[in-house]
Amino acid sequence: MSIIRHSPPDRPLPNGADIGLPWHLGLPAPLERGFQVYLLGLTRTLIRSSFVIVLILLVSGSMVEVLIDPASAMHSWRARLIAIMASTLTWWLAGQEQTDWIIQPSVCLTALIISITNNYLSITLSHSLSYTYYLFNLLAILLMGTLFRITFRWSLINSALILLLMIFSMLVYSELTPAETLVLFFFVLAGGVLSLYGQYNFEKLQRKHFLAERVLAMHRNELHSANLVLENQATEDPLTGAVNRRGMEERLNRQINLQRQRKTEDGNLYVLLFDIDFFKQYNDSYGHLAGDDCLRTVSTVVQSMIQREADFIARYGGEEFLVALNGIRLNDALVFAERVRDRIEKQGIEHKASRNSNVITISVGVAGWRPEIHHTSELIRMADEALYEAKGLGRNRVVLLDEGGTARPL
Ligand code: GH3
Ligand code: MG
Ligand code: MG
Repeated sequence: MSIIRHSPPDRPLPNGADIGLPWHLGLPAPLERGFQVYLLGLTRTLIRSSFVIVLILLVSGSMVEVLIDPASAMHSWRARLIAIMASTLTWWLAGQEQTDWIIQPSVCLTALIISITNNYLSITLSHSLSYTYYLFNLLAILLMGTLFRITFRWSLINSALILLLMIFSMLVYSELTPAETLVLFFFVLAGGVLSLYGQYNFEKLQRKHFLAERVLAMHRNELHSANLVLENQATEDPLTGAVNRRGMEERLNRQINLQRQRKTEDGNLYVLLFDIDFFKQYNDSYGHLAGDDCLRTVSTVVQSMIQREADFIARYGGEEFLVALNGIRLNDALVFAERVRDRIEKQGIEHKASRNSNVITISVGVAGWRPEIHHTSELIRMADEALYEAKGLGRNRVVLLDEGGTARPL
């Protein structure tokens, strides 16, 4: 069964008109369920808002009866009351939660009750217009399909039942001539067919609209996911998975701006710039591929230590990384930097050619944001100064560039 004729990616999106539906209007199971829920919501709303019309019709019908023949009105009030009670029950059910399963049957039942009571009145009343009560069968069909808009299928089955009951009561109980019977039945049948045909077309349009909306939502989601992937790819370093230089600048700039707006003394923005010690020699001894592995390990280890959403690790250059820590006190930033240095050393990645250890180590420079800093590069330059100092002091250590611009080893 083909629901959508064109494959969406290389054609314009469907606008409803180009969606094909099978003649029986059935959609694949999950969509059909979704549509039923949507239609039930509509039926509930219509029942609640149109209930007054039904009441007015039923009551005014009774008043017309009083005008035609008061004796008949005395006879018919019970039948009218039953119809009013049935429609009141349907109206009440429409306002209740978890009554989905009974809404359509109760509309059908109300229509049936209106139909049966009027067939009964048509047979039992004796005034000259009593045969016209058969016309209420048409009103019952219109009630389901036009007023309350239950699904076409329910409407079709119940309309067939109503028409059968009507012809049965006409043929078996009423004293109408065959010609009168035929004319009345034809009138109700023609009206019913028109009502059902209109309902079929309307439901078809509703289903197309429903499908077109789903297709659009699907495309919107696909587009959104594709954008997210692209965005990540554009700001992610392919080797280590850390944020790349471009992403780093975007994020840091944003964080510096936030820092400038923030008035509280509650923590500051700190950056840790670290560089692997004697990495050239590592590449020379173990090969470039092992060097790549080492970069990945270092990045992953530090990444796993970052807890907060706003904090991140970026690959600043070859084997230099930057960690941004937001809303943190100086002491905690230094403790974190020391933990990072320690964790990398404890990884125990063999590095026989290193001149200060026999495993991979890093040197870390730490700097904090100050009100005179407007741009990322200024903050990084300060951290770089501290890192340079750490290298000069023998590597595998943390150095802070303090507020006064003095480098202080930990
Ligand atoms: P120092 O302790 O002073 O930092 O010494 P170093 O040998 O680490 O010196 P430097 O930081 O200048 O060395 C950077 C080296 O990192 C040079 C380059 O071969 C290596 N490198 C840069 N990017 C990559 C990479 O993507 N993969 C690998 N395997 N090596 C890289
Ligand atoms: Mg290095
Ligand atoms: Mg370097």
